[in-house]
Amino acid sequence: SSCQDDEVSKAQTAQKLNQQPTIFSKIVDKKIPADIIFEDNQCVVFRDVNPQGPVHFLVVPRKPIPGLSDVQDGDELLLGHLLIVAKKMAEKEKLLDGYRLVINNGRHGAQSVHHLHIHVIGGRQMNWPPG
Ligand code: IMP
Repeated sequence: SSCQDDEVSKAQTAQKLNQQPTIFSKIVDKKIPADIIFEDNQCVVFRDVNPQGPVHFLVVPRKPIPGLSDVQDGDELLLGHLLIVAKKMAEKEKLLDGYRLVINNGRHGAQSVHHLHIHVIGGRQMNWPPG
């Protein structure tokens, strides 16, 4: 039933919340190092340790939202801000010929770190469809 689905969804969110602090929370809190290229009061941007292109950075909200499926209506301004930061950092990184934004969500999305993040990848030609 949809009620059970709701319970399953709540349990999954609780499980993910229990995984906090993730490695990204530790980076945001400066408990572990990262190659941080920008930060403000809402987000931190750092280079991915396993880059999938000449340029690959992550835009990470300070708020430890586990994934896109956990965002709420009240997160609207934050989510907009993350996209604006992604666009500005892409310019700063000179990705003048374009770039790819990715948000992996959940198991089928192959999400591995359960702290919301936007990948920005560029510096090479991307392909479609993604793997
Ligand atoms: P996801 O699959 O979308 O969850 O992506 C997680 C990303 O975080 C991967 O691209 C990893 O290479 C990256 N990553 C994991 N640990 C670190 C770290 O400590 N610093 C920077 N990037 C990391």
